[in-house]
Amino acid sequence: MNYCYIHPDREATGTCVGCGKFICGECTTAVMDKNYCPQCIAKGIPYQKTTSTNTLAIISLVFGIISIPTACCYGCGVIFAIVAIITGLIARSQIKQSAGRQGGGGLALAGVIIGAIVAALAVIGGLCYAVSMIIGLLSSSAAGNSLLIGPWIWLI
Ligand SMILES: [Zn+2]
Ligand SMILES: [Zn+2]
Repeated sequence: MNYCYIHPDREATGTCVGCGKFICGECTTAVMDKNYCPQCIAKGIPYQKTTSTNTLAIISLVFGIISIPTACCYGCGVIFAIVAIITGLIARSQIKQSAGRQGGGGLALAGVIIGAIVAALAVIGGLCYAVSMIIGLLSSSAAGNSLLIGPWIWLI
């Protein structure tokens, strides 16, 4: 029977992937489906080995990039931009909580910034479109009036 190297009175439930020593359930820390002992965790070996990029951070950046060309497509880009902002913010809080196990904070930040810029531009663009529509309607109605008045002037 094998015993935990930290707790010699306890039966080991597994071995540390980092150093190969026997550890009990209490001493086992699972990192990316692999078990590590507290010493290896303290040394930071699993963190160096398993530092992964946060998935949501990648999604955020991808949606941020997608939102740029699609922003022109009747505001479809706004939806992507909002998704980029939300996933980026979630990713950043997840990365913060992971205490170094997850990377991609820069990607998430880029996604949030791109999303925010696209959303802001879409709002400005939407307002400009609305204004141009109003001006267009006003000018076309003015043109319509002159067309209506025109023939009558000829008759007089
Ligand atoms: Zn270990
Ligand atoms: Zn133990």
